[in-house]
Amino acid sequence: MGRKLLLEHINVPGINTLKVYREKGGYKAVEKAIKTMSTDDLVEEVKKSGLRGRGGAGFPTGMKWSFLAKPEGVARYLVCNADESEPGTFKDRYLMTHIPHALIEGMIVSSFALGANTSYIYVRGEMMPQIRILEKAIAEAKEAGFLGKNILGSGYDLELYVQPGGGAYICGEETALLESLEGKRGNPRIKPPFPAIAGLYGCPTVVNNVESIAAVVPIVNMGGEEYAKIGIGRSTGTKLISASGNINKPGVYEIELGITVEDFIYSDEYCGGIANGKRLKAVVAGGSSVPILPANLIVNLANGEKRLMTYESLSEGGFATGTMLGSGGFVVLDEDQSIVRNTWNFARFYSHESCGQCSPCREGTGWMEKVLHRLVNGKGKMTDMDLLVDVSKKIEGNTICPLGDAAAWPVASAIRHFRDEFEWYVNNPELSQKQNYGLAHY
Ligand code: NAD
Ligand code: SF4
Repeated sequence: MGRKLLLEHINVPGINTLKVYREKGGYKAVEKAIKTMSTDDLVEEVKKSGLRGRGGAGFPTGMKWSFLAKPEGVARYLVCNADESEPGTFKDRYLMTHIPHALIEGMIVSSFALGANTSYIYVRGEMMPQIRILEKAIAEAKEAGFLGKNILGSGYDLELYVQPGGGAYICGEETALLESLEGKRGNPRIKPPFPAIAGLYGCPTVVNNVESIAAVVPIVNMGGEEYAKIGIGRSTGTKLISASGNINKPGVYEIELGITVEDFIYSDEYCGGIANGKRLKAVVAGGSSVPILPANLIVNLANGEKRLMTYESLSEGGFATGTMLGSGGFVVLDEDQSIVRNTWNFARFYSHESCGQCSPCREGTGWMEKVLHRLVNGKGKMTDMDLLVDVSKKIEGNTICPLGDAAAWPVASAIRHFRDEFEWYVNNPELSQKQNYGLAHY
């Protein structure tokens, strides 16, 4: 059994309450941090842990914290990105639903480490139950003296607010999130400056994902060095993976980084194998924003080794043969699934969610969706695949925020690995239309 740091007590009845959470050792990290550690010590521990951003980018959390500007007399903010909207990704929602105090405790420790006296949890607007759960947990923590004025008699004050999100995928992009939190339309800002220099209301701000902030609790409890012993290389600690698609046991799993992709799919501890005895066709390993990985590249890398669930191994081979760990949204496709339809579905999503600020993304996502739509409806042309690759190349790297790349990579990689299937749709217009019966209404 892999080690569990975040989900160890997930099945304990009442773990969503402060009482039971504390009985299981909860809020010890707050006491340790506030009573015995300096803010510099805390940043150092997080650096030593090797923790990398769990929202998808994998940027080292300790480094991000150390970039936070500290001008005299200017407020600093910690903002938790709980706007989880990446297709195939539902781990943060799971954590907030079942163990809300893990996030609240992480927020208190992290806010203290960063010198923030006001912090926000920006929760995806559709997640009303989770918003209520968090508000209840905050009230409990405040009642117990872990929030508010003079926490644990230390002189440190912290107010923590939950903000319902604006209802758009793009509001999860950190600068769009800050715009939305300020009450404006959630349009991404040009970076730099990064939020660490000019974030919320122009003040230095750290934006961290739910899971990253929750991970600070075990890091403080066990020490950064101990945490770093879990995992492999620069992929340290544990990671929550949202597993879905054609598997026997969909759900949220906490893995030690470094297990093989094959083990994750086939072992009974995790996905339990492909449903109905089918064969594996491909995996979308890190949410819809990453290149698709065909089955042969999961179990057999160019060097003959098995691919691992780590940031490095999943991206081995670059975009030619690799992908990314991303948000850990792991979608398994069996042999019966249509890669073309799957690609169209993602393209439709990005076209709908583009904020429209930059033309390569606004126009390009629309074009990709239209071309894929005609392909799945038996009206495609043999030149469409090259056209799609061309459009994707014109988007990639030419936009304000990563949504453009996120839209381009799945399309380009699907054509790279499954061109024959795209050609089949062109050569079999009647069959492809039948196969899409029920979807053609779009
Ligand atoms: P990014 O690589 O631009 O930035 C990562 C983080 O590091 C940011 O917080 C950024 O401010 C910080 N950073 C980077 N360089 C810095 C510097 N020089 N100084 C200070 N700070 C610096 O990526 P991103 O836009 O944060 O995230 C993109 C990822 O988000 C995608 O790869 C995708 O996987 C993921 N994503 C996740 C979801 C979800 O629901 N979990 C949704 C959409 C996208
Ligand atoms: Fe908006 Fe797309 Fe440009 Fe991002 S890349 S700012 S979503 S138009």
